Amino acid sequence: MNPTRYAMSNASPTLLWFRRDLRLADNPALTAAVRRGRPVVAVYILDDEDAGDWASGGASRWWLHHSLERLAESLRGRGSRLILRRGAAAAVLDRLISETGAEAVYWNRCYEPWATARDQAIKASLRLRGHEVRSFNASLLREPWEIASKVGGPYRVFTPFWKALRAMGDPGDLLPTPDRIPTLEVAPASDDIDAWALTPSKPDWAFGLRAAWKPGEAAARQRLEAFLDGAAPEYAKRRNFPGTNGTSRLSPHLHFGEIGPRQIWHAASFHHTGMATDQFLSEIAWREFSHHLLFHFPMLPTTPLRPEFADFQWSDDPGALAAWRHGMTGYPIVDAGMRELWATGWMHNRVRMIVASFLVKDLLLPWQVGARWFWDTLVDADLASNSASWQWVAGCGSDAAPFFRVFNPSLQGAKFDPQGTYVRRWVPEIAGLPDSIIHKPSDARLIDLSDAGIRLGHDYPLPIIDHRAARDRALTAFRSLRAA
Ligand SMILES: Cc1cc2nc3c(=O)[nH]c(=O)nc-3n(C[C@H](O)[C@H](O)[C@H](O)COP(=O)(O)OP(=O)(O)OC[C@H]3O[C@@H](n4cnc5c(N)ncnc54)[C@H](O)[C@@H]3O)c2cc1C
Repeated sequence: MNPTRYAMSNASPTLLWFRRDLRLADNPALTAAVRRGRPVVAVYILDDEDAGDWASGGASRWWLHHSLERLAESLRGRGSRLILRRGAAAAVLDRLISETGAEAVYWNRCYEPWATARDQAIKASLRLRGHEVRSFNASLLREPWEIASKVGGPYRVFTPFWKALRAMGDPGDLLPTPDRIPTLEVAPASDDIDAWALTPSKPDWAFGLRAAWKPGEAAARQRLEAFLDGAAPEYAKRRNFPGTNGTSRLSPHLHFGEIGPRQIWHAASFHHTGMATDQFLSEIAWREFSHHLLFHFPMLPTTPLRPEFADFQWSDDPGALAAWRHGMTGYPIVDAGMRELWATGWMHNRVRMIVASFLVKDLLLPWQVGARWFWDTLVDADLASNSASWQWVAGCGSDAAPFFRVFNPSLQGAKFDPQGTYVRRWVPEIAGLPDSIIHKPSDARLIDLSDAGIRLGHDYPLPIIDHRAARDRALTAFRSLRAA
């Protein structure tokens, strides 16, 4: 690579490092880079090396591939180009700086502990060498350090956090998409995205993901509009019912930054006054709260926030874990959720709570094992939301559901999927059972089973554990924890 070739068009381009802000609208780092008035070199770095244990899982990689393709198209439409590189970000940026003569590096912030440590080191090192380095907020309404409790520390409980966030008022004005992005005459070399092998080939397990999702900024905007025009007014009533289209399904778009929470806030608050805005925005605030927790308690993904849980005696039962992962527990709502997850890379929030409770409390398996499975299979896998939610369900997080509140999967199913719509979709082998028994096939009369053409234990598993006994076991384990 000859650095003088890039100097031809304009001195000192700005390196714009895309990360989890894969959009052009309301993107502060992009806007600032364009305003700097020099050519912009847009780069995405596949930084598995930096992420270590938290490199993206399989479903997220599938999403990333398609999201980067869409971003590259959008950049091309504005006269720019997306440069793809892989490796440790510090070294990749250094190489790009020497290839292009860039004097400035801009990015939008991430909040994972490994990313903040890395970014601080990169910032310090580049500044020491005289580069201009600027970072911005594209992912959150307010950054974790902007909100503090009355005594000055981080919040541990959601409601006061949400009140404080609300009290800060509407987020600032949105930034427009730049019409043109000035670029170098000769762009630096880019990897070929196919060579990154982010999408599965042998076997190709992504057909369900392809059918369910359209990654990218344009699709994110369409999804938001469709939600606001469709399900939003009924959100508060329907958000807990997995058989309905009651929620926005924006989570993977938000995770990859194809849309930002400020855009959602503005759209929800200002254009659709009839909807259950407050309830919807409070869910967006749960995402903010999770980031707040991860930032202030960086051990959140691995270590219980409540220290007494460190010595909890979890079980080790590979057979039960396999049944849970494959949706073969004999509890239809659990199995439906786990199969939806495997097929589409997503699961409804209510069902996430049910399957997580089942793993942690009925099977007494460690929440970290469940979180890891979600990490690999969710298209919206997010270190902050996933870790905080698993700790919440397990009862060991801040503001957590108490451990003694053990979901009964059959009753949860009957309450939130009363007609069995959701279960019939994902567990078709029991679709013929009447509504009254669809969530508890093991209680079905022989006549119902034979009418529905089901042999329990053959066509569909018998429950792998008796819920009542499992609940007693969990409560005993929990009491011993408190007594210790
Ligand atoms: C065990 C468990 C694991 C989870 N793992 C993740 C994860 O890895 N990534 C993730 O984005 N969400 C996670 N969630 C939270 C929640 O289930 C999803 O955000 C939600 O189901 C996404 O669907 P939606 O976009 O239709 O949500 P909507 O109801 O439309 O909500 C809008 C947005 O608010 C945010 N949100 C909603 N509920 C929550 C919540 N409880 N916590 C944090 N943010 C929330 C999401 O960004 C969501 O897109 C988890 C929940 C549980 C119980």
